[in-house]
Order: sequence, then structure tokens, then C-alpha cells
Amino acid sequence: MRPVNRGPIPTDECGNEINFNEYQDARGKLIERLGETCSYCEMHLDSSLAVEHVKPKKPEGSNENIQERELDWHNFLLACVNCNSTKSNKDVILDDYFWPDKDNTFRAFTYSEGGIITPSSELSAELQSKANATIKLTGLDKHPLNNPKASDRRWINRREIWNIAVQAKERLSRNDYDDFREQIVDTMTGHAYWSIWMTVFRDDSDMLNRFIKALAGTAEDCFDHSGMPLQRPEGQV
Ligand SMILES: [Zn+2]
Repeated sequence: MRPVNRGPIPTDECGNEINFNEYQDARGKLIERLGETCSYCEMHLDSSLAVEHVKPKKPEGSNENIQERELDWHNFLLACVNCNSTKSNKDVILDDYFWPDKDNTFRAFTYSEGGIITPSSELSAELQSKANATIKLTGLDKHPLNNPKASDRRWINRREIWNIAVQAKERLSRNDYDDFREQIVDTMTGHAYWSIWMTVFRDDSDMLNRFIKALAGTAEDCFDHSGMPLQRPEGQV
């Protein structure tokens, strides 16, 4: 999961902080800051990308929307329909999960062949259980065997992108030149699933740095100069 930085509350042309009248009004600014990808599964999306409330605006058991959550810039991310519907309106205690805007979520999970996402084995048992809770909350463990819903293509997409990234790496090893490296970055931007590319190219610092700079909103302070993930300042991981 790509760690992101949504930045401060956007301002208008006079430099005043924008008060969003409806949360949907924040969508354009969020796309500008975070790119057109789901903040959880990293699927590339355009029109179906929704403003996601980290803490649900109307949690389970509540009769009306909580306004300070509904319109709070710091509570917004972007989510695809699958992540959004799996996460639903479950009221969350933030510290029980990892969040792409607070933690170095790239350190929290391991992406492996076939696009499988598991908690990183380098974490302590306590942090692994948070990683697992985060996977369950967003349904990142769903695959055709445990998820009969054909509309949820997240796992299938990850498997496809994994193969595309592996092929790109093989071609690069045979034919390594700068333009081709840039072309791979363009392919990554078009297909998204940044974490998969970061995993497949983990031995290539130059490519890691290109990926880190390629998408809007990637939290660059989560990586060292060679593209290796670092503990996020003030994050749990
Ligand atoms: Zn998603």
C-alpha cells in the first residue's frame, strides 16, 4: 500500500483554506494531491473513484452523519468501489490499523508472486496483527476462491500487473537504457499498483526512485536515497 501525503487543506486563489460544502467537492483536489488511484488497493481509476472517509461519516448504529468527519480534509482519501464497500461504515479506532496517510504502509505488507498481500514478516507480532486487520478491513485478501463476487477484480488485476512488471524487469536486464527505464515508469503510471512495481524492482534503486517520484502524493520521506523503506516519522511503522 503506497504511503501518501495529502498535504495541508487546499486554499483558494486568495490563499484562504477551502471549506468544502459537500465532501464530494474535495474529489478534484484529492486527485490532484494523491493521483487517480485507490488509496488502499492502488487500482487506477477515473470516474468511479470516490472520496473515502477514513473514519466513516455515518458509522454503524449512528442515525446521522457526523459533520466534523464528513467534511474534514484530514479524514479524506480516495477509494475504489470494492475497497469502499468492503470497509463500509465500520467505525474504526485508527491505532488498530495502518493507514496510507499516517504510516509507511509499504513496510507493513509484503506483495508476492501472483499479487498476494500478506503482513510483512519483518514486523513484530503485534504489528503483524494490525497489518492483518488492515487487509481484512479493506478486503485486500479477497481472491476468486473466497470471494465469489465477479465485480471485485482487485486480486486478478494484481496478478496481471505482477506478470507485466516481471516481464518489464526481464526486458530491462537484456536491454538497459534510460529511455526504456522511463517507458517502464510510464507503464507503471498507466497500470498503477505502485507497490507491485516497487516490489518487483526492489533490487534496482534507480527504478525505485523513479517510481517514488512518478505519482502525485507518494510520501517521499518514507524512503531513503536508495529507495529503501524507512519508518515513517510519527507513524506506527
Ligand atoms: Zn481499492
